[in-house]
Amino acid sequence: MTDSLQSPLFRQHAYINGQWLSARNSATQSIFNPATGELIGTVPMMGREEARQAIAAADQALPAWRALPARERSARLRAWFDLMLEHQEVLARLMTMEQGKPLAEARNEILYAASFMEWFAEEGKRVYGDVIPSPQADKRLLVLKQPVGVAAAITPWNFPSAMITRKAAPALAAGCTMVLKPAPQTPFSALALAALASSAGIPAGVFNVVTGSAEEIGGEFTGNPIVRKLTFTGSTPIGRLLMAQCAHDVKKMSLELGGNAPFIVFEDADLDKAVQGVLIAKYRNNGQTCVCTNRLYVHDSVYDAFAAKLKTAVEALKVGNGLDSGVTIGPLINDAAVHKVEAHISDAVGKGASVLTGGKLHALGGTFFQPTILTNVPHDALVAGEETFGPLAPLFRFQDEAEVIARANDTEYGLAAYFYTESLSRIFRVAEALEYGMVGINSGSISNEVAPFGGVKASGLGREGSKYGIEEYLEIKYLNIGC
Ligand code: ADP
Repeated sequence: MTDSLQSPLFRQHAYINGQWLSARNSATQSIFNPATGELIGTVPMMGREEARQAIAAADQALPAWRALPARERSARLRAWFDLMLEHQEVLARLMTMEQGKPLAEARNEILYAASFMEWFAEEGKRVYGDVIPSPQADKRLLVLKQPVGVAAAITPWNFPSAMITRKAAPALAAGCTMVLKPAPQTPFSALALAALASSAGIPAGVFNVVTGSAEEIGGEFTGNPIVRKLTFTGSTPIGRLLMAQCAHDVKKMSLELGGNAPFIVFEDADLDKAVQGVLIAKYRNNGQTCVCTNRLYVHDSVYDAFAAKLKTAVEALKVGNGLDSGVTIGPLINDAAVHKVEAHISDAVGKGASVLTGGKLHALGGTFFQPTILTNVPHDALVAGEETFGPLAPLFRFQDEAEVIARANDTEYGLAAYFYTESLSRIFRVAEALEYGMVGINSGSISNEVAPFGGVKASGLGREGSKYGIEEYLEIKYLNIGC
């Protein structure tokens, strides 16, 4: 643990215009390890002025960065990727310390985060325009794709590294520059990435990290006309607020917001595969991912058998400090997260649900919570409609396909959905009927750098990753040439 804190990647200053800075008023914010309560370090508590300074630096760096040939930008992103892999262990340990996830998951997240650097380093070379056949003989019509300009990013704590690279890599590959406000709980992963960006030859001002007040920095990011694009991952209420704040300048936006993912186990599902799917789709990161399933719908005819298998698998999970070997479930991020899980359990139990396993704070104390399964959960329970963001799997019972599709779609959210069936015709029928941006079919793990990640309805706008992800950082310009 101390090794990572001795590393040059452990930075306690913000990174603006290639410099490591304190807040103007020297204010700092303390960051604690959610597993132990120990102080890890401090970061500057910056505000509006420093955000403005970072935006000005990004604006100044923009002309030279966007003028570089794509392959030059690509080479630096590739160098950033290589450095992330080289320093995987330090990055993963820092992440586990500030976020709590088991070290194995943190190591995987570093690989996942780095994969966006590699992918967009390549995609940046393939930003093609178009030549359009003209309706008039004396005209030639061309389409250019150009970088949007200065992009601002606001990221959450649940994936402290990947949610940054998923935005920064396409932005920089496209020729944009970026200012980033990381989540207050997990700034050290962001600052470590900035240290590597510097070593990778990303010029000063191209990637900036401002730590501090969400309201002030967010206010400047959304209110400053130099910023042409805001990309945000977080809750739907904050997404709505940022969208309203961006309305004045009509900024381009990408929003990756909350979810309420259904997980449907049909009567013809392979139950063992479905249990493995739930372990990933529900319990990864202790249930704290926006694509985590929130509601499990199990067909009446396999309900009891599935519940028994899931119970065995969940009881084998090991709760503890993410740095300890064999741990598969870390602490929740904070007390508010614990209260939400408890509220969903007590509401469901009050309405007639039973606790099959777990249900309480873990004996380790702090924010450690027992992985929980509830059975016979009524459809009017809070957990049917609200995202829990914790290790709670509520099992609802259903009788037929039309009914379960209607229940699955009965939410304002539309990020991820999962279902298990061995029937090919049902796969297409159900996949097409689900109102979601992403559907896992016989698969509990859907995220990777080559596929489009994003939601519909109140789950957001735009897509990240894949060939589509870079489009979010490009404007289309049409040239009409008389000749
Ligand atoms: P969560 O509840 O998962 O922390 P939030 O949506 O509150 O999700 O936070 C996601 C990110 O949005 C964090 O970086 C947080 O600091 C930031 N944030 C929260 N409130 C605001 C705000 N008013 N303006 C700008 N950013 C904000």
